[in-house]
Amino acid sequence: MPDNQNKSGGFERNPSILSLLTKTQLVDFVEKLFLNEGSIETLSLDQKFLRRFIEKTSLHYRENPYHNFHHAVDTVNTIGWMISLPVFHRHLPQHHKFLLLFTALIHDIEHPGHNNQWEISIQSALAKKYQNEAVLEKHSLDVTRHLLSDPKYIFLAKVEAETVGDWMNTIEELVMSTDFAAHRGFLDDFGAYLENNEPDFSQPQFLSWITRALMKAADIANTSKPFPEAMVWGKRVMMEFWAQGVMEKSRNFPVGPLNDPETVKLNAAQAGFIRFAVLELFQLIARIEPGFQLLVDTLTTNLAIYDEMAQSGDDLFE
Ligand SMILES: [Zn+2]
Repeated sequence: MPDNQNKSGGFERNPSILSLLTKTQLVDFVEKLFLNEGSIETLSLDQKFLRRFIEKTSLHYRENPYHNFHHAVDTVNTIGWMISLPVFHRHLPQHHKFLLLFTALIHDIEHPGHNNQWEISIQSALAKKYQNEAVLEKHSLDVTRHLLSDPKYIFLAKVEAETVGDWMNTIEELVMSTDFAAHRGFLDDFGAYLENNEPDFSQPQFLSWITRALMKAADIANTSKPFPEAMVWGKRVMMEFWAQGVMEKSRNFPVGPLNDPETVKLNAAQAGFIRFAVLELFQLIARIEPGFQLLVDTLTTNLAIYDEMAQSGDDLFE
């Protein structure tokens, strides 16, 4: 595989983010990604305040096995790599590139390490506040709005209020798109849109589809990394699911389909996730940007490895 497929606009497809151990190292890394992409300069955003915002954001992520600041940093890097691919680099408006990086940074802020269903099952204060709809996504948005209203972090000070309002609407749309409850519907509707419309970056409707698709893809792109790395992220996410399953059993709640540690195996769960949730999304984006084929190929390889292990009863945790 030629090296240049793994690098895009100065972004590495798979830097060793998990080897960055301190918050300062991670904040440094994210700041460099934003600078590298170029929006800070082009959009006259305040770098010093942005750095403070990134630092503050890092403190609001929790030490979960999966939904932690490493996942946020990984998502920022991945979306940076994706939007540097030729078609997106050439055609995506600059502020959309910035909003994708920004949304990747904040999209899981204050994630508690279990999912929306758990919040609903325990009738938590957040579930009540958001009436059981996209509870954690709406909470992350509200935390972000709160931070952005603090004078210490207003890196958007030089941007007109009306523009900031428009940007917040886009950020909301992008964060809401990461709610997996709407994933199947999104794939069907995005596929139908591409059947009936040519990709046209001057059309707001197409921009909405492609930016949401990229955000969703970056969020689950750890499955498309080379297998050893994909497996590490896969183990992390299963640790969260299983921990929730134990809590669900202890309270006699219905156990989520991926949450029972006694019956759900990592290999089969990851294979099912790639087969039914990930591949189709990446294949749809590859129709617009051929550089995505590299990710589709790696997903196909990883799927074959997981399938083979699942069939032979080889459990990665044994
Ligand atoms: Zn996420």
